[in-house]
Amino acid sequence: MKSTPLQQQGAALRSPPTGAIPFADLSAMTQEVREEVDASFAQVLDTGRFIGGAAVARFEDQWAAYCGTTHAVAVANGTDAIQLVLRAMGIGPGDEVVVPTNTFVATAEAVVLAGAVPRFADVSPDTLLLTPATLEAALTPRTRAVIVVHLYGQMADMQAISGVAAAAGLALVEDAAQAHGGSWEGRPAGSWGRAGCFSFYPGKNLGAFGDAGAVVTDDADLADHIRSMRNHGRSDGSHHDHPVLGTNSRMDALQAVVLSAKLPRLDAWIAARRAAAARYEALLAGGPVRLVGRACGAGHAYHLLVARVPDRDRVRRDLAGAGVETGLHYPTPCHLMAPYRRYGAEPLPVAEHSAGQILSLPLFPHMTHDQVTAVCARLRELVPAEASSDVA
Ligand SMILES: *Cc1c(COP(=O)(O)O)cnc(C)c1O
Repeated sequence: MKSTPLQQQGAALRSPPTGAIPFADLSAMTQEVREEVDASFAQVLDTGRFIGGAAVARFEDQWAAYCGTTHAVAVANGTDAIQLVLRAMGIGPGDEVVVPTNTFVATAEAVVLAGAVPRFADVSPDTLLLTPATLEAALTPRTRAVIVVHLYGQMADMQAISGVAAAAGLALVEDAAQAHGGSWEGRPAGSWGRAGCFSFYPGKNLGAFGDAGAVVTDDADLADHIRSMRNHGRSDGSHHDHPVLGTNSRMDALQAVVLSAKLPRLDAWIAARRAAAARYEALLAGGPVRLVGRACGAGHAYHLLVARVPDRDRVRRDLAGAGVETGLHYPTPCHLMAPYRRYGAEPLPVAEHSAGQILSLPLFPHMTHDQVTAVCARLRELVPAEASSDVA
């Protein structure tokens, strides 16, 4: 039978050229937990409790302990985690929430879904993260909260940003969807703000076998409120009492047991990400390809390894031709996307400039030294030595 172009494309995806290096390969992580997950799935099937229940409560306790917070509330995904935190804090119409424009669109999306207005802030030319100065520049009398995004796995300067937030009377919320296992001054991601929001999308540092998310906090009232909201606003222990406006954002038991199986391995997987990142750093040092900067207070969790590359689109195409798959995080700053342009017209030059240079290189826990070496060799061939990605 003659195959259609789509089938050919599918075949190509399934069998990459020999020696090809994927952007991320989750299969070895799945393999590590497979036996344990199979057994846990069988248990869940036996109990018949598919949503919430003991499996989810167990993971919540484990995740709170990992993050160093007193509460974790499991939800359906990372976007809901942010949206529910904002709504539970009473942030909505008429309120502004500062969001760095260099982030995954979900951060801004959650603000709008909560009914509030996103105010986009520029980022550091070195780390591409929110800074105290860019936060201050985005404040207005209507600002109620700031969502700090620990993009790529690196936390922003939380000491300084907490100071600005406190002085301006803002609620500090962390979007830690890329920073499982990251820290600032030794304190874990998610534990600095009033609440920390996580996604367990399969590709994150800690990934489920589908969608899942969590909120962590030391605020018992906030945790209770979100627990109720995630389950149609039900009051604790009652099926027909709905005292608050809720939604459906519950975690599946099957996802919770996957996360519980993976969690004991998370630190080793992050250590492997760090080792690969260190090798990249050593091999690329002194060359025209620079990596996004690392702040000394940050315990980087390396969800992504982002380089700044001159003539990025050409380099990306040529790398693909050489069997090296890369990613873009993110090619369009949020404030320039169609649904968000209405929220501000001021240019945010650092984010706009860097968006054309950033290139996410292959990085995953089971990546081999030889694979890192091969990517760096290809990069050296493809980026002329005299080229340089200037800093904005
Ligand atoms: C993945 C991600 C989210 C959203 O998580 P979902 O689980 O996909 O809803 C939010 N913010 C950032 C920075 C992310 O990377």
